[in-house]
Amino acid sequence: MNDWRNIKSSLKILPSVERVLEDERVSETINVNSRNGITRITRDTIEYYRNLVLSGEDLGDEAGILSRIRDEVARKVELTGRTSQRKVINATGVVLHTNLGRAPLGDCVTESLLRAASGYIDLEVDLETGERTHRERRVIELLELITGAESALVVNNTAAALLLAVNTFAGEGTVAVSRGELVEIGGSFRLPEILERSAARVLEIGTTNRTDLKDYERAVEDGASLILKVHTSNYRIVGYTDDVPLGRLAELGKAKDVPVMYDQGSGILFPLGKEGISGEADIGSLLSTGVDIMTFSGDKVLGGPQAGIIIGRRRYIEQMKKNHLSRALRVDKLTLACLEAVLVRYWRGETAMIPALHMIMTTRDEIAERAESFSAALRERTGETVEIEVVEGESSIGGGSFPLDPLPTALVEIRIGKSRASRLAGSMRGMDPAVFVRIKEESLYLDMRTVAEDEEQILLDSLEEGINRFSGKE
Ligand SMILES: *Cc1c(COP(=O)(O)O)cnc(C)c1O
Repeated sequence: MNDWRNIKSSLKILPSVERVLEDERVSETINVNSRNGITRITRDTIEYYRNLVLSGEDLGDEAGILSRIRDEVARKVELTGRTSQRKVINATGVVLHTNLGRAPLGDCVTESLLRAASGYIDLEVDLETGERTHRERRVIELLELITGAESALVVNNTAAALLLAVNTFAGEGTVAVSRGELVEIGGSFRLPEILERSAARVLEIGTTNRTDLKDYERAVEDGASLILKVHTSNYRIVGYTDDVPLGRLAELGKAKDVPVMYDQGSGILFPLGKEGISGEADIGSLLSTGVDIMTFSGDKVLGGPQAGIIIGRRRYIEQMKKNHLSRALRVDKLTLACLEAVLVRYWRGETAMIPALHMIMTTRDEIAERAESFSAALRERTGETVEIEVVEGESSIGGGSFPLDPLPTALVEIRIGKSRASRLAGSMRGMDPAVFVRIKEESLYLDMRTVAEDEEQILLDSLEEGINRFSGKE
């Protein structure tokens, strides 16, 4: 332990910021863009070492301290200069994992995305006439043709879509919404807060568990200029409940000339019931109820990039386009490139090529087959060190969708012991690519639904490495 005199003399030999910046290893990394940042990193690093000295740590002589600080600064500068997004292998079975970027886009967007990113494109110009045109024209045309809507509009996400729609029709008026639908959905989306920011007045009607037509009629009499109905994606109220079917609301809206809007959220463009996923209406059948405006995300079940899609009656969409907020919420060329590429797959009937949809539509038996062969391959690599078997389980679509209708799946269970399970999962997250798994009790579970076939080899390598590291004594 150092005494005070030693601490004082150690503080004296800490280098100045200038001294560190002059050192060759640091100075060679300085350019016009990094100078201020490197100065800040240097100051913070010296401060860190000053605190070490104050806490009594012996850092050695002047040259030693300088070289430690210099190396530390050079390391931080180098790390900052790397792009840090890391590929993740998602073995959780949550298809639309918001923390992992929701819908994976796969090969079906690569060509369009590269074209749009790497050079100039005809974003806002009609090549035939040379005239200026709208950047969203192609995705709007596809959306109209696929959904049957009169018109469409695309903004940054569904939160933005709600902001724009509610502000257009209730910015100086009143939006009526059921108390049972004032939801919070993942990713810090809270409907009440957005409504408060977009409308002059939010009229909450009905109760948490029951709202009936009379409540909506009264709201219209009270001056509601927009009726909003929201899909309560991630929760259900069960028991003594009642809500008004969309068709009845649409009739009311038409009779009173008040637009009726439905925030559907997940963007199911065709009936998924055939795929064994029940309980959710698709956009087309929802539109046929006569609802005026609908909003949904591009990166949920639709399987595309982050975007907020608004479809509905032409006169209402035109009003929204004229709202100056729409300029603040417009999407960029990369989003449009990806969304167009995905919508083209719908148009051609090639939805199996859209990764998120493909994962959702994969059957339990298909997954079980992959789980069996994966387990066999893993057992071959790890021998007797852990118990590996295939068990029944459930995948979830995620992204705040379908909470009560999980998809049946088959899981690869790796029984490794309670404390080792979470340590192994942690070490898998630290790999490159990072691997995300489920943990429960003493086991790790892998759901092959969300693992692409060409990721299986890397997953095997990572698991082998991880299991070998952790299969010693507990
Ligand atoms: C997910 C969701 C939202 C939010 O969508 P973002 O695109 O994430 O902004 C809004 N409403 C519903 C019903 C949703 O499911």
